[in-house]
Amino acid sequence: MGIRSATVGYPRIGKNREVKRALEAYWAGKTDAKTLISTVEAVQEDGWRAQQARGVDAVAVEGTSLYDHVLDWVVWLGLVPERFRHLEGLEAYFAMARGLPGIPALELTKWFDTNYHYLVPEIARGQHPEPGFEGFFRTVERAQGVLGARAVPVVLGPVTLLRLARLEEPLGEVLERLLPAYRALLEGLRGRGVGEVQFHEPALVLGDADTLKAHVERAYAELARAGVAIDLVTYFDDLGKAYPWVVALPVAAVSLDFTRGNNLELIEAHGWPREKRLGAGVVDARNVWRIRPSEVLLLLERLHGIAPELSVQPSASLQFVPYDASRETGLPEALRGVLSFAEQKLEEVVALAQHLGGQGGEAELARIEAAWAAFRAFSPENPSVRKRLQELTPQDFRRALPYAERRPKQIQTSLFPTTTIGSFPQIPEVRRVRARYRKGEISEAEYRAAIDAWIAYAIGVQEGVGLDVLVHGEFERTDMVEYFGQKLEGFAFTVHGWVQSYGSRYVRPPIIYGDVARPEPLTVREFKVAQSYTDKPVKGMLTGPVTILNWSYPRTDIPRKEVAFQIALALRDEVADLEAAGARVIQVDEPALREGLPLKQERWDAYLSWAVDAFRLTTAVAKPETQVHTHMCYSEFGDILAAIDRLDADVISIENARSGDETLRELAEYGYPREVGPGVYDVHSPVVPEAEAILAKLRTFLRHLRPEQIWVNPDCGLKTRRWEEVIPTLRNLVAAARALREEV
Ligand code: GLN
Ligand code: ZN
Repeated sequence: MGIRSATVGYPRIGKNREVKRALEAYWAGKTDAKTLISTVEAVQEDGWRAQQARGVDAVAVEGTSLYDHVLDWVVWLGLVPERFRHLEGLEAYFAMARGLPGIPALELTKWFDTNYHYLVPEIARGQHPEPGFEGFFRTVERAQGVLGARAVPVVLGPVTLLRLARLEEPLGEVLERLLPAYRALLEGLRGRGVGEVQFHEPALVLGDADTLKAHVERAYAELARAGVAIDLVTYFDDLGKAYPWVVALPVAAVSLDFTRGNNLELIEAHGWPREKRLGAGVVDARNVWRIRPSEVLLLLERLHGIAPELSVQPSASLQFVPYDASRETGLPEALRGVLSFAEQKLEEVVALAQHLGGQGGEAELARIEAAWAAFRAFSPENPSVRKRLQELTPQDFRRALPYAERRPKQIQTSLFPTTTIGSFPQIPEVRRVRARYRKGEISEAEYRAAIDAWIAYAIGVQEGVGLDVLVHGEFERTDMVEYFGQKLEGFAFTVHGWVQSYGSRYVRPPIIYGDVARPEPLTVREFKVAQSYTDKPVKGMLTGPVTILNWSYPRTDIPRKEVAFQIALALRDEVADLEAAGARVIQVDEPALREGLPLKQERWDAYLSWAVDAFRLTTAVAKPETQVHTHMCYSEFGDILAAIDRLDADVISIENARSGDETLRELAEYGYPREVGPGVYDVHSPVVPEAEAILAKLRTFLRHLRPEQIWVNPDCGLKTRRWEEVIPTLRNLVAAARALREEV
């Protein structure tokens, strides 16, 4: 068969978030394991049937996953760390995912450059795998019952597993011990009539893939001997320098992502081993837009000319998009018509494969073209936004005075000023008020009165504990992006558009579909209310343009940089309005700045250049008298310090409580000139730290920073905490700052 359609993974949370509910009920002791597992299996089977019904020829069959697919392979390969070995079954599984009192969970971290998070495997020195694939085999048999020969099992490849794991010895040594387990897996699959298996090896797109060459070649030479056709699946970027040797591996097929990076250039430059099948990931699995049929067909025809055996498939697992755009009936028809979630993407791969093979598909592709035409009329360019962007000059990105000259004009406080990061407890009452307003159960006036009461309470608490720079508390916001997106033009919100962030935590990213504009102020009212209750400075509180962009599904018809600049212009006007309303301090949070870094380090500079510019475009409008703060929720930025510096923020607060002041050392070495608020305690923990402990932490800051540089604040926002924890903690924080003032 020359041309076929295929998938490489499917959403697993359930169309109505069934898996979340089942997990939470199970954890709360309200249901048993059987109910949990049958829910997850039903969701999975639904996915198989959806793919089959739409006519996908080769359906990816992943193991049944209760939390995370990397954790699943840790269990099946028998790589459970020592501290969990006294536990069994689901108890061990969820202990690794979530920890138990005194037993920390595996570390959770970002899956490549997506917003999905996986659990990091830990393999101890000399640890031998104790594989048990029965659970995986049962899933494969269930899938074969539904899909027959269309079922293609998905395996997390050994090189990626080890590349992402925490190892205590060289990767090659662990690989040798692991390969027999993978061989046994393949033999078990062959015994079940499986002819083809996907080995997912996204680690091959990382910039350092060449250093893994010997290991990859060793692994696949060994695995090829099992006599099952292997499809080596890569995604999220191109193979780069590794292309020539990866496509030469002894596998039956290689799958490449043609929606990101330069795989097309690579294949055209280096050619393709024609006996191998090319898995052509041409349907973008990371975004929510319909294909542009004519463009994709052109691409596919070029690829088919090079690789006669071809699978048309999504660029990666469809777990990164929601299930079904047709359910979003609240969205304008013209917008909904160009949205493509998992089910629509299945239709696209099937129609493209049919068309390429001369088997039809025209009607579907024509419908998509027509939808794009209708969309263009629905969302025209906003000429004033475009004009403003065109007329930007270098001055628009630069504060009027350099830091040394503007600082004396800004707020003056005693040494070690105290503040918080922005949000205060979002207790159920607060969330209920927002929900009731959303549902129309209370009027706007009632809603505002309730929010304002919380603002007044928060100001009172902050005055009471003696903080220096206050915040309004962010009670009107569900999260950092939704609130802004709902007030800006160009954003759309879905009802069912959930995707998994990790475990039972799902997010519903907004969709940026048009030019971004700010019809009216976003935060000025709440700022004014807060400032009216106090003489101390209240911070204006905004989410930065890069974070808003990185936590949304962006449009793709203009570059990401341009989308970021459009958001920046809207926020720039907000900065000016806050200032006019009396704000002396304005904070622009960019916790997702780092998340946007490309996978290959050689592309970092290009990204950071416009990302930092977007922040500067937002903030440079501030008068020299206005103090600009920013916040990042992580402390690893030794490798992007120059970019952090170029933000030119007067004050930056960072996470620091759980790290050993590593970042402060790096900042000192770099000669970072401006002010820094390293977090003094971990907001993720319910523990109330003693003033003495905070003071001890603060003293360590003095080893790296000048006293005038140091701010005193928590690691991050306090929205997940309770007032009973927050109030005594902040009191201790203020006491510690005062004690330090006495010491210097
Ligand atoms: N200002 C936000 C808050 O305090 C910042 C949150 C974040 O950094 N993720 O909640
Ligand atoms: Zn944070």
